[in-house]
Amino acid sequence: MSWRATILTLFPGMFPGPLGTSLAGRGLERGLWSLEARDIREVTTDRHRTVDDTPFGGGAGMVLRPDVVDAACAAAMPEGEARPLVYLTPRGVPLRQSLVRELAAGPGLVLLCGRYEGVDQRVIEARGMIEVSIGDYVLSGGELAAMVLLDACVRLIPGVMGAAESAEEESFSATEGANLLEYPQYTRPAEWRGLRVPEVLLSGHHAEVARWRREQSEAVTRERRPDLLSEQRRDAAAQAPLHPAASPA
Ligand code: SAM
Repeated sequence: MSWRATILTLFPGMFPGPLGTSLAGRGLERGLWSLEARDIREVTTDRHRTVDDTPFGGGAGMVLRPDVVDAACAAAMPEGEARPLVYLTPRGVPLRQSLVRELAAGPGLVLLCGRYEGVDQRVIEARGMIEVSIGDYVLSGGELAAMVLLDACVRLIPGVMGAAESAEEESFSATEGANLLEYPQYTRPAEWRGLRVPEVLLSGHHAEVARWRREQSEAVTRERRPDLLSEQRRDAAAQAPLHPAASPA
């Protein structure tokens, strides 16, 4: 069975959006993965189709109700569902390539997109959701974050990327155990506005090219992302969310 993504959202019309084009879109057309966007509102039973309420303790905004979110999860996930349930939230663990690899290697994902002030904490814990953030900024909803996570996962599904696009050498690919940013890339012309491509890349000497690229990767990682060089810390953080304390309801 192909890799399956189910999105729980108040705005199902946003999908597939950009995921319907390019690599991900071609993979979707070829049946290498599937996407179903479900409207959270479909599970409501009241006349106003209410999904949210004011926060206990006061404060601005609205919070998605636990009973509504739970019913949406139950409708989307049959008993014994093997796919992890991810809630996109700025409070989550940072999304990293190690987590992307892990999720892409599984059967797929169920993704909960928050809106307003977020989701009642009780249903997050009761359903054992993995809380994931795509960065230290606040979006107005989880849909764009879900697309980011899906795009990152889908391109790793076997067959989605052709031989022309390889994930083996790119940033965070953990070549030889290191988690490095990619070396700089150059293409034709060999000279542009008086700027020459580094000579080693024109030499045809594969070992020299490989050594130069490795040095460049290490240098740019040291300069821009020294945190990545501390691999143990990164892996510990990335693994943690897959083992939530609470068990699914
Ligand atoms: N009150 C929340 C807070 O301060 O953490 C922010 C809520 S935000 C306005 C609404 C929804 O957008 C969230 O429930 C979440 O689903 C999504 N969201 C916003 N920023 C995100 C991020 N950096 N990563 C993942 N999801 C995000």
